[in-house]
Amino acid sequence: MEKGTQEKNGKLVCVTGASGFLASWLVKLLLLRGYIVKATVRDPNDSRKVSHLVELEGAKERLHLVKADLMEEGSFDSAVEGCEGVFHTASPVSVDVKDPQTELIGPAVKGTLNVLKSCAKSTSLKRVVMTSSMATMLCNGKHKTPEIVVDETWFSDPEFCDEYEHWSGYILSKTLAEEAAWKFVKENNIDMVTINPGTVIGPLLQPTLNTSSDTLAILFNGAKTFPNFSLTWIHVKDTINAHIQAFEIPSASGRYCLVESVKHHSEIVKILSHMYPRLQFPDKCADDKPFMPIFQVSKEKAKTLGIEFIPFEVGLGEIVESLKEKKFVIF
Ligand code: NAP
Repeated sequence: MEKGTQEKNGKLVCVTGASGFLASWLVKLLLLRGYIVKATVRDPNDSRKVSHLVELEGAKERLHLVKADLMEEGSFDSAVEGCEGVFHTASPVSVDVKDPQTELIGPAVKGTLNVLKSCAKSTSLKRVVMTSSMATMLCNGKHKTPEIVVDETWFSDPEFCDEYEHWSGYILSKTLAEEAAWKFVKENNIDMVTINPGTVIGPLLQPTLNTSSDTLAILFNGAKTFPNFSLTWIHVKDTINAHIQAFEIPSASGRYCLVESVKHHSEIVKILSHMYPRLQFPDKCADDKPFMPIFQVSKEKAKTLGIEFIPFEVGLGEIVESLKEKKFVIF
């Protein structure tokens, strides 16, 4: 899709949280496809957040930065106005929070409703594509084994979000945000699709280090142990192509799992040790509990969006090289 620079008749779309890891790629690929993009950022004058966006191919002609904050009611009205599509990606992604309610859950849930309230006022809107997460599917106390296949019928249960310990506030924020979004769009007759990616890997466009990329960077930066996590993984290009296809394909609907593979961190350090044999990676797990089990995630529905599922190892190599180039890992 990256090379397909065919004009989309200059269709106007909005991307919320445009300076982030995923959204920067979304803006880039939308511009390459000929869209006119209204990109929301909290501070359009912050060059660390916007310089990489304004330098994108097509940005001069077709990118408009709009100031908007999830916590301000009505903040997204002007960004959404006139758009046929709204890609809602903005949501805080953090593990080191003191107050999950204020720092994660409030902005995720209230922020999503703020964006959707702006959508409800629009007369031009055709579809909202919301960036949700596999986090909204996996935390429910259901037994997982390598034979179990998770699919779009799975929902997280807020009571089980502590399963992932220090990620729990984030998982809860995404679970409650998606739940609130479905309720709102049903009541207000808005066409919405959610893309539910696993942990996203691939090159970074933005100059800052986002939280999910940091979970890999720390393995290069002196970590003594690896976490007892089995995470779901997907390439950033597959993730963004799924968003765009979910907007462009009229029959797309509901939720889409997006996972290439599920890997325990013990396997990731093994792959990294093969890729970078001269480097030292942590060889001990952070706890002595049994390893969190791996499982499968259905690719069937995502394939209907034309997703190719770039292999994990390709994305891993690309993100490591990108982190190195940006000096987030030094070796
Ligand atoms: P990111 O780089 O941290 O981007 C998050 C974006 O949300 C930033 O642009 C941030 O703006 C914006 N944001 C946060 N609080 C805001 C507020 N109060 N008002 C306006 N904007 C606000 O994270 P990401 O990894 O790209 O994640 C983007 C989306 O994908 C999120 O919804 C996340 O849950 C979802 N997701 C990510 C992954 C992953 O592995 N990365 C996996 C599944 C789902 P500032 O730059 O101003 O802070």
